[in-house]
Amino acid sequence: MKTKISFYTLGCRLNQSETSVMQNQFESHGYQVVDFYQPSDIVVVNTCTVTKHGDNDTRKIVHKIQRVNPQAQIALIGCQAQTQKEILAEMPNVKWVVGNARKMELPEIIRDETASDHPVIVAPTIPRESFTIPAAGIDRQHTRANIKIQDGCDSFCSFCEIPYARGRARSREFDDILKEARVLVDAGHKELVITGINVGHYAYKGKGIVDVVSALDDVAGIERIRISSIEPTTIPDTLIQKMKTKTKLCRYLHIPMQSGHDDILQLMKRGYRIEDFLSLIQRIHSDVPEICIGTDVIVGFPGETDEHFKTTYHHLKSAPINYFHVFSYSKRKMAKAKKLADPVDPATIQERSHILRELRDRKRQAFYELFSGTTQTVLFEQKKDGFWAGLTDNYIRVKTKSTQTLENQLVDVKLDNIEHNFISGTIV
Ligand code: SF4
Repeated sequence: MKTKISFYTLGCRLNQSETSVMQNQFESHGYQVVDFYQPSDIVVVNTCTVTKHGDNDTRKIVHKIQRVNPQAQIALIGCQAQTQKEILAEMPNVKWVVGNARKMELPEIIRDETASDHPVIVAPTIPRESFTIPAAGIDRQHTRANIKIQDGCDSFCSFCEIPYARGRARSREFDDILKEARVLVDAGHKELVITGINVGHYAYKGKGIVDVVSALDDVAGIERIRISSIEPTTIPDTLIQKMKTKTKLCRYLHIPMQSGHDDILQLMKRGYRIEDFLSLIQRIHSDVPEICIGTDVIVGFPGETDEHFKTTYHHLKSAPINYFHVFSYSKRKMAKAKKLADPVDPATIQERSHILRELRDRKRQAFYELFSGTTQTVLFEQKKDGFWAGLTDNYIRVKTKSTQTLENQLVDVKLDNIEHNFISGTIV
């Protein structure tokens, strides 16, 4: 009988993309991949350490595994395994702790390291070299597939532990990206999401992010290319020109702002002023008027006064930003900001987060209103509660009724009513 293995992914899109690759890898090693809630012999948790919540989630998941799958041996891998290996090794039923440097070798590590009574810890320093990925990230749950092109970061923003958890910036070999893209297309994926920690810093033998997009553009069968998130200081003009000329590149960019005030940006060591950020997104918005621009913002960074917060609020409100993720600042052990004075009290952080989340909902609503009554092409994903749900290239969530299956199909839909976080529409 095959060994059963299940997976749980915490954190970002990059982690999701790596989990998909690992699932396919384990299948090719003879395992049976089962759903997280099914009984399994081994459970792999791909951890995250971006905030305190990410850290706490690992503990919660380990306890959940003990309840739903008490016999299972647990492998904790990824970012928290890289930075807090000893803490993770003490958790119940944990058999393997494998950091980012070697997590893609997990099948071999499990094969070779089962005899020991103590948890096996494999978390060496992450090398700086370019890399390849041994399997494709075919995703059976989603029509979109993530394609990892880069890892690590050299920026050392003061709130962030990523350069420690994922190492310094390095890029995937160019041909290896295209090889995976062809496998993903053959498996039926029509939309590929370019992922990495800092994809704008992609650099392999003279090729950059625009070369990756152009090469994917030429792969027959890919209908959409989406960039998951890109730092404001790394967006080349040629990328925007590409988007403007109606290639397969989606009219969508997620560009982290983090704060709307220069004092805080400086403390965060973000390397730009708010004026630079705003003029960048204004320029992008006038070049590609129907683009959806998203951002990330941190509230409660040390020293953030009411004045700083009001400025952030003002910019989020008035700039062509259509949605944003709000993160509460939390101290990270390895990040430089832990030494900063003037912490913001938790109640204020909560209140500011609440104010921004309300603004976010209004901005998304305003963006959707611009498209109500227009016809847009939607890539449908799944049927839920009697409706087919999908996304436009500029990230509008659309629902429609159909007796035909729409899964993984691109369909023109006339958008009608806005209902909370989606628009209902009629197929034309
Ligand atoms: S750019 Fe800054 S926030 Fe983003 S991963 Fe690098 S260090 Fe972290």
